[in-house]
Amino acid sequence: MKLHEYQSKQIFARFGVPVPRGILAENATEARNAARELGLPVVIKAQVLVGGRGKAGGVKVAHTMEEVEVLAERILSLTIKGLPVRRVLIDRAADIRGELYLGVTIDRARRRAVLMASSAGGVDIEEVAATTPERIVKVPVDPFIGLPDYLARDVAVSIGLAREHWPKFIHVARGLVKAFVDNDASLAEINPLALVATDGGIGLMALDGKMVIDDNALFRHPDLAVMRDPDEESEAERKARNADLNFVSLDGNIGCLVNGAGLAMATLDIIQHFGGKPANFLDVAGGARADKVATALRIVLADPKVKVVMFNIFGGITRCDEVARGIVQAIEEVRPTVPMVARITGTNKAEGDRILASANLITAESAAEAAQKAVALANAAAA
Ligand code: GDP
Ligand code: MN
Repeated sequence: MKLHEYQSKQIFARFGVPVPRGILAENATEARNAARELGLPVVIKAQVLVGGRGKAGGVKVAHTMEEVEVLAERILSLTIKGLPVRRVLIDRAADIRGELYLGVTIDRARRRAVLMASSAGGVDIEEVAATTPERIVKVPVDPFIGLPDYLARDVAVSIGLAREHWPKFIHVARGLVKAFVDNDASLAEINPLALVATDGGIGLMALDGKMVIDDNALFRHPDLAVMRDPDEESEAERKARNADLNFVSLDGNIGCLVNGAGLAMATLDIIQHFGGKPANFLDVAGGARADKVATALRIVLADPKVKVVMFNIFGGITRCDEVARGIVQAIEEVRPTVPMVARITGTNKAEGDRILASANLITAESAAEAAQKAVALANAAAA
């Protein structure tokens, strides 16, 4: 689950990371009131769950009250990468003297968190990662020790930060790592972590914030779970989540109904292997009862890109004939107009195939055969 910038910054602040004073606004009047409260100049920032808001016109500095209203109104009317801007964050503007990048994510190979830092912060960190990866310094964080001062200092040295800023950097890095661990995040990122001029000299401040929380850990964080923005996921994804189906929407035209995540992955691979493009990844999980299959089928068919549906089901504890009956019942309910190919295998396979064939499904002996048939049908529909 992704958190908005304002939510991420609130969390960072609780872990000792300095952030600007900010107020959320839903319209130009609220923006104006916020600016009056904070004092000019302010930055007006679209709160949408995508990166690159600055480049899309979603981040603007306002120097007068008139500007605040005009810019807030304009940003609130934007749709950025398909997401409508419903709220803006009004932040006290900072006097930026430099922009660093600081992030924590999981290094799966090392099985631990990894701290990433770069002196090339700002809006183009993806570009830096792609073209000059040596400018991003990475250190693994031991889960039992956390981030000791000396490691954080090493990072500060490696990115060429001036010595006077090391203590502040160590403080921020330790705070970010702790925020990441304590909230079961899969990403905690500050870009830019800015060097800003203040009355007391140059300080470090998180001017942007991004956190992704591991969905599987949300039961431990009810305070975070309620922060979910429904705009984060598509309607299909939301319906699937509510029905306990694992669903990921993709770009192709072959809808996949599969039981088990591993089998789902293999199915996507085999479709690609035969030159097809999956429209989604849908795992109906164990059991494959009729009601669940019907819900899954409805979700898959709601996508107009889907030209053919491929079932790839293993009937283990739930026998093939039961699964086949479930599929047939679901089809009677949903009445799809696209062709459907089914490969089911496991206990009582022959009986399962007979039931599927009687319902006009195209059956297949192997996943490869099913994929080839599905790809051919999809190509025919596209031609
Ligand atoms: P993103 O484009 O979605 O990553 O949004 P950011 O919050 O990172 O903002 C993009 C850029 O706007 C930053 O890299 C800064 O250069 C600039 N920016 C953000 N906050 C301020 C601020 O308080 N003052 C000034 N002058 N610029 C800011
Ligand atoms: Mn940013």
